[in-house]
Amino acid sequence: MPIRQLSETMINQIAAGEVIERPASVVKELVENALDAGAGRVEIVTAGGGLNLVRVTDDGSGIPEPELALAIARHCTSKLTEDINDIRSLGFRGEALPSIGSVSRLSIRSRTAAGDSAAEIGIEGGRVLPVRPAAANRGTTVEVRDLFFATPARLKFMKGERAESSATSDVVKRIAIAFPAVRFTLAGSDRSTLELPATDDGAEGSLRRIAQVMGADFPDNSIAINAMREGVHLTGHVSIPSFTRANALQQYAYVNGRPVRDKLIAGAIRGAYADVLPRDRHAVTVLFLSLDPAIVDVNVHPAKADVRFRDPGLVRGLIVGAIRQALADSGIRAATTGAAGMMAAFRPGAASYGGSANGHRSYDAAYRASGTSSFDAARSPQRPLDMGFEGAGFEHRGLRENDQAAFDAGPLASADARAGQGEAAETLLGAVLGAARAQVHENYIVAQTRDSLVIVDQHAAHERLVYEALKNALHSRPVPSQMLLLPEIIDLPEEDAERLAMHSETLARFGLGIERFGPGAVAVRETPSMLGETNVQQLVRDLADEIADNDTVETLKERLDKIAATMACHGSVRSGRLLKAEEMNALLRQMEATPGSGTCNHGRPTYIELKLADIERLFGRR
Ligand code: ADP
Ligand code: MG
Repeated sequence: MPIRQLSETMINQIAAGEVIERPASVVKELVENALDAGAGRVEIVTAGGGLNLVRVTDDGSGIPEPELALAIARHCTSKLTEDINDIRSLGFRGEALPSIGSVSRLSIRSRTAAGDSAAEIGIEGGRVLPVRPAAANRGTTVEVRDLFFATPARLKFMKGERAESSATSDVVKRIAIAFPAVRFTLAGSDRSTLELPATDDGAEGSLRRIAQVMGADFPDNSIAINAMREGVHLTGHVSIPSFTRANALQQYAYVNGRPVRDKLIAGAIRGAYADVLPRDRHAVTVLFLSLDPAIVDVNVHPAKADVRFRDPGLVRGLIVGAIRQALADSGIRAATTGAAGMMAAFRPGAASYGGSANGHRSYDAAYRASGTSSFDAARSPQRPLDMGFEGAGFEHRGLRENDQAAFDAGPLASADARAGQGEAAETLLGAVLGAARAQVHENYIVAQTRDSLVIVDQHAAHERLVYEALKNALHSRPVPSQMLLLPEIIDLPEEDAERLAMHSETLARFGLGIERFGPGAVAVRETPSMLGETNVQQLVRDLADEIADNDTVETLKERLDKIAATMACHGSVRSGRLLKAEEMNALLRQMEATPGSGTCNHGRPTYIELKLADIERLFGRR
């Protein structure tokens, strides 16, 4: 067959194959267009999971009637001028509308502020319909019906109405976070409906929008990020270590306002939390990067979801550094959600964290039903305290005699603690973790602040402190290394060898002595002593990969941190050791002074705090 030019429709359908994967991609493109047009309101309606209908209405600038035909012509855009390196809009390829129009029945109705009437154009499976007058307010409505009717093969890949609706809802949420001052509504089938009222563009408005999307409990369980490095600005909110998810879907990232899914950013988030989260848990994050458009390439992928940074190491370092710093600054705050869970568990009728409001009500009702003077939990119709106490093996009516005796004899330091209740103890009450009062079950320090009771897991806390100390030692001076008897020669692609050589100074600081060994090879003469017998070949290859991907040597740092963690675990106070009052107080003070000590190395809380007010509520005193 001779070479010939593809038809316009064929070209557009090929483009559609890349740009329009599913109904959610249509929604994404149309919403981006509305935002680029400066809309303050974006209304989205779908039917049949978006396959039957997607309609997006905005109150933006509108399209002048003479330009309607261009809007659906390939490579026609009002957004890109002469400079591909200076992209400030969400769209720039002039590809979305013609692509969608080649595989569906699309119509655009639009009216500009200047125009005194609206006009409409249509395109069906690539066939353009004539422009005709229409009635509409200022702004644009784009309607897409029968998506993929012209490419039935694509239709077969759709996952069903529910899955498509929820993908659409995700797309809208993702983009809405970046535009807090815009009102978004999404109406469709079943559970995918959304209503996000406009907030404002400032930091507060942004957090309000984030809460609308991520849930009202996120602001309370997150820390603000605000950092700048070499002209790259990072802002946003990240969850405290005790607020996690089983997957990384709740990690939103934006580059100059554009939602992106970026491996580098995801990796940086993982790295930042590596210390405080177990492997299978994921932080909840919203991060906004803003930087000169000239140093980031958004023209990487047809769906514009990928980006390339000119200096990936800088971006990774900024994210890891800023999140770690923020976590460190707020370390001691990290444990309060644990207490919320515990209160909820004690509370009758409140099976989950979220149920606290209900829990209160039923508790109050039970309390009133049983009379106020002699409350008898066992006889009360609802036995309000059953859940938690039974589960914990408590008796309903007071402590058993044995327990009482055991408690009095004091596993502990209670005498010491009482002795220390003088003036010094009085000031300790004002400290975050308060004054130590007792040690119970040979592992839990019970402390008291002015308005709360604090329970510290002494083993977990100590492990964390030792770990932080080891890490500090590790990062503040060159890491001790051991000479290899024979240097290990590693053959690598030349680019990798070159990259490793370029980082040899940093690597040396971490105890890895590496140098060029002719073309396509490096020689390793020293390894970090902490690593012991290690697979040098594998380590060096991993490092080369990482430098290629991210331009950093995090891998080595992370490995050393992990070893520090293991050593810390072995070197810490095992539970079971009795502590004197001064020792307990010293531990508490050290925790307060150590960033990150709110969680142990495995991400569990090292202490929980019960507010006096909550305790009183449990006892029906409030
Ligand atoms: P791109 O967004 O990359 O420019 P599109 O195919 O998505 O390409 O849109 C083509 C052009 O149509 C845009 O550049 C813009 O001028 C116009 N347009 C599309 N949607 C709207 C809208 N909702 N409001 C105003 N103009 C629009
Ligand atoms: Mg567009």
